[in-house]
Amino acid sequence: MTHKRFVLTFPPELTSEPITYKLIKDFDIMVNILNADISPGKIGHLVLEMSAPGKVLKSGIEYIKGQNVECVPLEKKIFYQADNCIHCGSCTAVCFSGALTMSRATNEMVFNPEKCVVCELCLKACPLRLFSIDIE
Ligand code: SF4
Ligand code: SF4
Repeated sequence: MTHKRFVLTFPPELTSEPITYKLIKDFDIMVNILNADISPGKIGHLVLEMSAPGKVLKSGIEYIKGQNVECVPLEKKIFYQADNCIHCGSCTAVCFSGALTMSRATNEMVFNPEKCVVCELCLKACPLRLFSIDIE
């Protein structure tokens, strides 16, 4: 499963198109709307997080672009200073995506960037401030 964030820009004549509905219904893509600024007759912006297997996600993006809607990936990543981690586990309590977990085998915190949805909750949760945003 791939999780990615995108900024969609709708031309004024397309702001009422049910694009997110179709992504969910026709492509079986999980869609989480993070921000929306859409008004009839104006250029609209939507920040979405889409979750689906890679090929499905690609098809969904092609569909969006085929509707003349601009679809630009939001390239933010979480940077983690692993060497300084004391494995207290505080960050795992806020990470709903499962990107931060405690290993039962080693009792150490494990970061899986593939699962990270860049919600940024771990930035404040870590007492040592080991997480930061990396904007590409
Ligand atoms: S940004 Fe959010 S999803 Fe990513 S590791 Fe931190 S808490 Fe987990
Ligand atoms: S909160 Fe910070 S120190 Fe604690 S496990 Fe997470 S990254 Fe490591």
